Amino acid sequence: MIECDVLVVGAGPAGSSAARAAARGGAKTVFIDKKKEVGIPVQCAEGIGKYLFPYLPFKIPKHLLKWKIDGISLWAEDITIERTGGIWSGYSINRDEFDKWLAEEAVKSGAKLMLETELVDIDVREDYNVTKVMVKTQKGIKKIIPKVIIAADGVDSTILKLLGFDLNLEKYAGYVIGYKMKNLKLKNPNYYQIYLGDFAPGAYAYIFPKSYTSANLGIGAIFFDKKLEDCYEEFINLPVIKEQIYDGVVVENRSGWAPIRYPVTDLNYGNILLTGDAANQNIKPFIEGILPAIICGDLAGKTSWKFIYNKEPLTNYIKSIRDTLGFFYKESDSLIDVLYRLGKFPDSRGHLIRLGLFSNIFSISDINKLVEYDYYTIKNNLLNYNSNRMRKFMNNLIERLAILYAKIR
Ligand SMILES: Cc1cc2nc3c(=O)[nH]c(=O)nc-3n(C[C@H](O)[C@H](O)[C@H](O)COP(=O)(O)OP(=O)(O)OC[C@H]3O[C@@H](n4cnc5c(N)ncnc54)[C@H](O)[C@@H]3O)c2cc1C
Repeated sequence: MIECDVLVVGAGPAGSSAARAAARGGAKTVFIDKKKEVGIPVQCAEGIGKYLFPYLPFKIPKHLLKWKIDGISLWAEDITIERTGGIWSGYSINRDEFDKWLAEEAVKSGAKLMLETELVDIDVREDYNVTKVMVKTQKGIKKIIPKVIIAADGVDSTILKLLGFDLNLEKYAGYVIGYKMKNLKLKNPNYYQIYLGDFAPGAYAYIFPKSYTSANLGIGAIFFDKKLEDCYEEFINLPVIKEQIYDGVVVENRSGWAPIRYPVTDLNYGNILLTGDAANQNIKPFIEGILPAIICGDLAGKTSWKFIYNKEPLTNYIKSIRDTLGFFYKESDSLIDVLYRLGKFPDSRGHLIRLGLFSNIFSISDINKLVEYDYYTIKNNLLNYNSNRMRKFMNNLIERLAILYAKIR
């Protein structure tokens, strides 16, 4: 039997970051993962946005930033919109290497990592306070008695299921078929590419470059009437994709689920804090989850040691997230219903509206007006925007100011 202050379940970005923060605060911290090796298999497109760097609890070492991304190109109905700089720039990372580095940082801070250790059961009181946790290890079932549990166990959270919540992935998550590919002829190797159309029901398809000739390529869906494998075939047969992947070779399958809607309404139940994908903390519309998981995981770890040593309430976690990333989550949350609403009845107009929203040309507050417009009015709005450089410059400026404002608040 193991007794600890903080038990972190999951050693992904959220869990390792939480374990690191809890251990740095002096809490006796154990973090477990059912995997044999941290970071494997990779189920990710490996893109990170630079705009979130100021909110990270540490600096990412340069050697982990593998490929620079200068901007993004978004495509629908044969219209391409390009955005550069500000919130559109970032890097490609290698998730296996990145996740391992982060777990090592937690271990260096004093947290104990137990791999091949799967949480399988909990003793939980009616007020959601967990008194005991059962984990399956190579040597049989072990008991862990923690004061606080940080649920960083991903989109299909065992902890939430054991608490009695009905988690139906098809209702609150999207599935992504993704591959790492090499031998590509990328149009613009320093740009993310996003594609919207019938081939990606309610979601989008993507090419996220990792070098001049390699990239993560995939397609997601939030509605499952069509077989996603067929959607993928449709996508890779678009002329604009075909010419880039003609000689392409699949290196690895990187598919997986990503949360879109909130599976539960709170981030704190009894002595449990939810973080990362278990708490749907990715930022929409691009479902960017790696850096938000690290930032929120860190806040969960800090909240838990402050609860143990300073008797500060665990509910402070919610406020700390609001104070740190609230600006981004407000915008992101307002997109969730719109994504389902527009994706439910996919048509060319809907794809164009999403193109405008994803590229920040249209504002979410105009959605009721936009859905009334006909196809050509929406298309003209986008085309006019595309040819108006001054407006592009102003939009970038507004985005930068918004980020600055969020930082100084
Ligand atoms: C195909 C795909 C592409 C993506 N691309 C991007 C991208 O380009 N950029 C981006 O920012 N985000 C991307 N995301 C999202 C991103 O991968 C996640 O948001 C991020 O991994 C969340 O981190 P996490 O630590 O919360 O969860 P995870 O990384 O899922 O880690 C959870 C960990 O918990 C462990 N675990 C689960 N249950 C148990 C249990 N019962 N006992 C013990 N351990 C357990 C798992 O083994 C896992 O290691 C993508 C997601 C998918 C599916």
